[in-house]
Amino acid sequence: MRSLSYSSISTYKECPQRFKFRYVDGMKEAPKSYFSFGQSVHKALEFFYRSQIAAPSLEEVLRYYETNWVKDGYESEEAEKLQFAEGTRIIRAYCLKHADDWTAAFATEYNFNLEFDGVAVTGKIDRIDKLPSGGLHVLDYKTGKSFAYWRPAQDDQLTLYQLASENAFGLSVERLTLYHLPTLKVFHSERHPDVLVRNLRKDIMKVKIAVDKKQFEPHAEERKCRRCDFRAICPAWTAQKETTEQLKQRLEELEKETCRIRRLLE
Ligand code: SF4
Repeated sequence: MRSLSYSSISTYKECPQRFKFRYVDGMKEAPKSYFSFGQSVHKALEFFYRSQIAAPSLEEVLRYYETNWVKDGYESEEAEKLQFAEGTRIIRAYCLKHADDWTAAFATEYNFNLEFDGVAVTGKIDRIDKLPSGGLHVLDYKTGKSFAYWRPAQDDQLTLYQLASENAFGLSVERLTLYHLPTLKVFHSERHPDVLVRNLRKDIMKVKIAVDKKQFEPHAEERKCRRCDFRAICPAWTAQKETTEQLKQRLEELEKETCRIRRLLE
């Protein structure tokens, strides 16, 4: 089986059938503007921390942002322009806020490819800083509008990043942070307790076993399915189409029968 990632594990937990379309059958989903936007802003912040000597100027970061802007998935030119302006606002505010406390990052956009309990897991960590104590501080940037403030203490993605960082560098993670870029609010947590790490490992193993057993039943729910690119070919909905077809046929038969009885009564 190919490796798992935070995103593929979440997809499986949300809908195994969607996981199958995406990761087993290798079907592509349509580009989404929110992913493109997130990528563009992440890249600019990676550039902000790329140097080990000094921060680049705001103009350099904004130029980098413009040159590396990801255009995919926008509904219109107007929508793209608005998001581009929002990204400029975020980057400008971020760089101004951190101009004075800038320090070289220990790692940025760090790709990991590790094996936990015999399961290969890959991912990318936005930023890792080294604390004065020698421990690690793992940061994950968020660019979405809505944000759950309680997440840092329980967030599975941060638990995975903690596990991956400790495995990769042999250093203890002492702080975890979700950085909500649109509001520049930071939400910290201490190192996640071992029980969360154990639960995450169990979840990874459960998904691996289910995928090996080819358990891909659809978890249909209107709220999720209306945003799913695979709805037109999903058995949960094509089966329902057949039922609608059958209902139509039954209605036609009933109408014919009503006509026949009417004619008999006339
Ligand atoms: S349409 Fe719904 S049930 Fe089907 S794959 Fe997508 S999310 Fe799953």
